[in-house]
Amino acid sequence: MLFNSLKTEILNCNRCALSATRNNVIFGEGNPKADIFIIGEAPGKVEDIQGRPFVGPSGQLLDRILEACGFTRETHIFISNIIKCRPPNNRVPTADEVKTCMPWLYRQIELVDPKIIILLGATALKNMVGQNHRITREHGSWITLNNRLAMPVYHPSALLRDPGLKRPTWDDFKMVVHKYREMVNPDHFSEHV
Ligand code: SF4
Repeated sequence: MLFNSLKTEILNCNRCALSATRNNVIFGEGNPKADIFIIGEAPGKVEDIQGRPFVGPSGQLLDRILEACGFTRETHIFISNIIKCRPPNNRVPTADEVKTCMPWLYRQIELVDPKIIILLGATALKNMVGQNHRITREHGSWITLNNRLAMPVYHPSALLRDPGLKRPTWDDFKMVVHKYREMVNPDHFSEHV
């Protein structure tokens, strides 16, 4: 119930200028009680049109990685972004936009109450952990974030630009599967891990 009323609030948000250029607010999707919360950067063009997170080429690649881990959006994952509306031309969100929008994300995290957070890419890492953090240096290392474990990984769009990042990213996701077995379900099945 709380989650649904939060959804209604977010879908009607006009707190920043991005509300004027968006087609849809992208609330996020998945299991509202998921043990894994994935945080991306911002909706892109396809997401803005369809009203769903991670449905473009990056999202399809992410879904293939999650499938290899034995995770589905419906059961294991809730996925959302640092900001909920698309910045024009997919530019990086400004500091003001992030500051205005992030309280929504914090409320989502509080309600979902995940055990593991996956930070997809530099924007998620910097805004959740600190501006001095670097995804190139810190991907694959667990970070404690308000008593939760967070794993920074490369954003799937980076993998599409540089396929050489696929191998290290798969290694990082394998660590998430091991941690999920340790913290949530020792019998979790993945064909590949
Ligand atoms: S980006 Fe966030 S703060 Fe700005 S209008 Fe969309 S939901 Fe509201």
